[in-house]
Amino acid sequence: MEEKTLSLTQRMGEDLANLLGVSVNMVQRTELASLLKFIMDEAARILDAERCTLYLVDEGTKELRSFIAQRAEVKEIRLPLGKGIAGHVAKTVEVVNLEDAYQSPLFDPKTDKETGYKTRTVLCIPMKDKNNRVIGVLQALNKKKGTFNTHDEWLFKSYATCASNSISAITGGEKAAPDAKSRENLERLSLTVENIPDGVIMLLREEDCVVVNPAARWMLGLEINKIVDKKGVEECLKEIGLGNVLKWLGGEVEKLSSQEITLQGPKERVLKADFAGINGDAGLKKGLVIVLRDITKEKEMDRIKSEFIAIASHEFLSPLTSMKSAVALFLQGMLGPTTDTQKRFLNIMKDSVEYLSYLATTLLDISLIESKKMRLKEEKVDLSEIVRSSIESLRYQAEKKGISLLSKDGNIPPVLADPHRVRQAVLAILDNALKFSPQGGEVVVSIESTGKEIEVGIKDNGIGIPLKEQEKIFEKFYQVESSITREHYGLGLGLSICKDIIEAQGGRIWVESKVGEGSRFAFTLPLRT
Ligand code: ADP
Repeated sequence: MEEKTLSLTQRMGEDLANLLGVSVNMVQRTELASLLKFIMDEAARILDAERCTLYLVDEGTKELRSFIAQRAEVKEIRLPLGKGIAGHVAKTVEVVNLEDAYQSPLFDPKTDKETGYKTRTVLCIPMKDKNNRVIGVLQALNKKKGTFNTHDEWLFKSYATCASNSISAITGGEKAAPDAKSRENLERLSLTVENIPDGVIMLLREEDCVVVNPAARWMLGLEINKIVDKKGVEECLKEIGLGNVLKWLGGEVEKLSSQEITLQGPKERVLKADFAGINGDAGLKKGLVIVLRDITKEKEMDRIKSEFIAIASHEFLSPLTSMKSAVALFLQGMLGPTTDTQKRFLNIMKDSVEYLSYLATTLLDISLIESKKMRLKEEKVDLSEIVRSSIESLRYQAEKKGISLLSKDGNIPPVLADPHRVRQAVLAILDNALKFSPQGGEVVVSIESTGKEIEVGIKDNGIGIPLKEQEKIFEKFYQVESSITREHYGLGLGLSICKDIIEAQGGRIWVESKVGEGSRFAFTLPLRT
C-alpha cells in the first residue's frame, strides 16, 4: 500500500476527526461489555497497535478488572491493585511509554510466557472521570510500525477522556440521552486542544455545540473567554471564505481540500486551513474538524525568496545575452579567422552560456509563478502556427537523433492566449519527447478542436513513464530516475512550469504513457471569443 504523507496539521486534524467520530459512536453503546470491546478495538485501530487492554478500578475489592477482547467476547480477569504496568499507572496516574517492555522493571515477562504473546512496546495511560478520579487504565501493545511517540500519547490521552466519560455514563447509571453524552464528549475533547498552538474548530452536524480552541479564537478575532455558538461560528466561517465547509457538511460539496485564507485587518494575516471530515452512514456527513495554522511569516519569507531569485536571474540574463551574441559573432567568423581549436572551445562556451541562460530563465519563470507575478497576454493565437514554428526550431536537434518530427492538424480556429507562453510549453514538451525517444524514433504533434476547446497532443515512442510517476512529473523538481534523466541537464521544472502556464489560461494538461512504448502529453486551451 502506498504510504500517505500528511503534514502535521493534517494529521492532527484527521486524528481529531477520528476521535470525534469514534466518540459519537461510543455514546450509542448502552451495554458495558459492548462498550468496552468497542473502546479496545477502536483504540488499537487509532494507535495502529496490535491490541489494547482495558482495566477498571474496583474500589470495593481493591482490584483491577482486566478486560481482554477475544473476537466477539470480552474476557475478564481480576488483578490485585498496584501490580504490573496497569497497576502502576492506576496508582501513580502517570503515563508509561515503553520502547522495549523487557527492559522495564514494571513489566512481568510471566504474562507473555502464559499467553504465548511477545510484548515489545507498551503505551499505558490512566482514565480519569469528570472529578479527576482514576476509574481505570488503557493499555496499547505493540505499535505495528516503530514505537509509540509523543503524538500517540496525546492521541491516547484524548481518546481516554471520551472513553472514561462513556464508561462512567454506564457504570454510574447516568441516563443521559446520546446527544447530551456526545456533547459532553465534545466538551472533554475541547480540553485536549486547549493548549495547542494550532487553531482547532470541531463541528458536529446534528449538535448545537461547537469547539473553537483559544488559538483559533485568536486567529479569527473572536473573544477568548466568550461562549461561541454554532451559528456565530458558521457566520464567521462564511465571512472568512470557508463557507464551503458548511456546504460539505450539508452534502452539497463532495470534497474539501486544504485552503489558504487571507484575513484583512490592522495587519494582514495568512492562514492555512486543513480539514478532516467525519463520515456517517449512507454517505451522510457527521461532523468536521478544521485545523488552522498561521503561515503569515512563511508566506513573507517565500515572497522575499521569490523576489530575490527573480531579480538575480533577471540580472544574469542580460550579460548572458551579450556573451551569446559575442560567441556567435566569433563562430560566424565576423571577428576574424578562428582556428579549429579555437572553434572547439568557442562551441564549449556556446553550450555553457546556453545552459546558464536556460537555468536563469527557468528560475525566473518559477519565481514569477510563485509570486503570482507572471503576466499572461490575451491575444488571438493560431496554435498550428505555434506548433509549426516550434517544430522548425527543434528540427536540427531531431535530425541529429534521426527522429522524424511530424504534425497533423486540421482547420483550427484561433484561441485567446499568450503566444509566447504557449510556445514555451510546446517547446518544453517537444524537447522532452526528443530527449526521451530512441535514435530513429518518431514524434507526432496533433491539434484537434472539440468544439469547446483545442487539444494539442505530443506523442513519442520513447521510454515511457510508470503509472505511479505520471502525476508526480508535473510537480516541481520531480524527475523519474533513469539513465537518460541523468545524462541530460534539467531541473525537473519544465513540466511544472507548463502546468502553471496552461492552467493559468483555463486549460488542462496530462500525460498518457506506457513504459517501453512511449508517452502522449496533451494540453487543452478553451475556445473563447
Ligand atoms: P526536466 O527539465 O528535468 O526534464 P521536466 O519537468 O520537463 O523536467 O520533466 C520531468 C520528468 O518527467 C523528466 O525528468 C522525465 O523523467 C519525465 N518525462 C518528461 N517527458 C517525458 C517523456 N516524453 N518521456 C519519458 N519521460 C518523460
